[in-house]
Amino acid sequence: MAARACPVCRIPLENLAESSSAQCPSCHGLWVPPDALPAAASGLFKPLIAGFRELDQAESLHCPDCGSATLEAVGRSGYQLRRCTNCNGVWVDETTLGKLRREISPRWRGFLTTALGKGLGAVFGKSAGLAESAE
Ligand SMILES: [Zn+2]
Ligand SMILES: [Zn+2]
Repeated sequence: MAARACPVCRIPLENLAESSSAQCPSCHGLWVPPDALPAAASGLFKPLIAGFRELDQAESLHCPDCGSATLEAVGRSGYQLRRCTNCNGVWVDETTLGKLRREISPRWRGFLTTALGKGLGAVFGKSAGLAESAE
């Protein structure tokens, strides 16, 4: 498999442990291919993602998996993501990641960590400390 590149920094993404997700070591953006989510979690994830609508001002970025400029910006109630129109993978930038972490209460963090599996769960299960220190 070819190395996946960060759509923003263009450097190789680092694969997460026990997950097909990958994270950028530089901008900390997170790439979540559809198969990264356990069946139980993707049931929750799909309707969530479906509610996002296209934002027309942003240009498309290159998808880490498809390699073509198919990552379109989508938004919903203050959240902005990049979704691949080809493979349905989702790119979550550090700002959105930090926002998600802050909104997930510590009680749900444990549940999410379990539901998403080790690698991906660790990203969301992390306390918001990282995002807060960046502010
Ligand atoms: Zn990056
Ligand atoms: Zn793609």
